[in-house]
Amino acid sequence: MVYLLSGQLTCECGKIMAGATSRGRKGELYAYYKCQSKCKTRIRQDYVEEKVFGILDYLIQHVDDEKLRSVFKTAKQIAENYTKQLNTAIQNSKLELKQLEEEKQAHINAISRIDDQGIIRELNAKLMFNKLNRLRVQKYLNDIEQLLTKLKADIFPELIETYDVKKDLSSLNTDGKRTLLMSLIKKITVKKDKSIEYEFGSKDIADLLGVQKSLNFFHTNKITVI
Ligand SMILES: [Zn+2]
Repeated sequence: MVYLLSGQLTCECGKIMAGATSRGRKGELYAYYKCQSKCKTRIRQDYVEEKVFGILDYLIQHVDDEKLRSVFKTAKQIAENYTKQLNTAIQNSKLELKQLEEEKQAHINAISRIDDQGIIRELNAKLMFNKLNRLRVQKYLNDIEQLLTKLKADIFPELIETYDVKKDLSSLNTDGKRTLLMSLIKKITVKKDKSIEYEFGSKDIADLLGVQKSLNFFHTNKITVI
C-alpha cells in the first residue's frame, strides 16, 4: 500500500498522521491515515488523497506559468543546496574511512612487531573499535549515496520536464508528487469533522483557491495563508 500523504498530514491536535489499514465487518480492507496520538482521529485514504491531489491538480492547471516556474526554481534551489551538502558529507565520510583504514593497518603492523600480551590485547580492542567505526561510516555513506541518487534521478528532472511539457499530475511518480505537493502546499490539517485545512506558502496561490466556487468544489471550509 502506497500512502502518498505519509508524513504530510497533520491532525487537528498537532500530531503527524500515518497510514494504516483495518478490516471492515465483511472482511474488506480499509486504508486510512490515523493520528499518532491518543485522539485517534482518522480519515479514509481514498477520500483525503482525492481532495488533496484534486487541489494540487487544480493548482498546477490554474496557477500562472511564471508563478509555477518560480516555485520550481525554489524547489530546484533547495535540491541543489541539499545535493551540495550530501556531496560534502560523502567526501568527509570517504576521508574518515580512509583514515580508519590506515589506523587499522597501523594496529595490525604493531601487533605483528610486539610481544607484550597486555599491549596486544589493548591493540586488539582498538582494532575492534576501529571495525565498528568503519561499519558505522560505511552505512552512513551508503545511505547518503542512495539519497543523492534518488534526488538526482527521480525528482527534479521529472518535475521540470512535467512542467515544461504538460501539467499532468498522473505522469509524476510518488516522489515527484510529494515534492510538488511540498513546494505548493505548506501544511495540511485534518479536522475531527474530516474537513481539511490548507496553508499555502504564497498568497497568490491561496488567492487562486480563495474564490467561493473552488471552496465549494473542494468542500473545504478554511484556507489559511502563511
Ligand atoms: Zn490527533
